Amino acid sequence: MLPAAAAPATHGPPLTAVCFSAVLCLAVLLPVVIGRIARWRTRRMLACCPRCGDLAVRRMQSEAVDVLHERVALQCGQCDTWRRAVVDDGYRRSRERRFARDRVRLQRRLTAAERRRPTRPPSTTRPGC
Ligand SMILES: [Zn+2]
Repeated sequence: MLPAAAAPATHGPPLTAVCFSAVLCLAVLLPVVIGRIARWRTRRMLACCPRCGDLAVRRMQSEAVDVLHERVALQCGQCDTWRRAVVDDGYRRSRERRFARDRVRLQRRLTAAERRRPTRPPSTTRPGC
């Protein structure tokens, strides 16, 4: 039979240890969550025009702020309003890829529309005249 002193303790962790670990987890996770929310809000702000609400972008300009961030300016395709924000480098690259995809898609639609167009120019005289 084991002596009473060798028996494992069956009580849970003390309340101070639980509180301390909760505060530690919060201190680690809170900056990450705040950073994610700020990044999401910045991307949402750049996603559509604040003036007309359109999604189209006519032109994009960017300049480096530091190693990880860039100042991006997007011109609205409808009302020419510029919207600017400082974003991480990944945002600029993703926008450039999106613009390339949009250009390819527009070129395909334009080519298909040109194929559907009649080759003979329409007659300038009315049939009844
Ligand atoms: Zn606009």
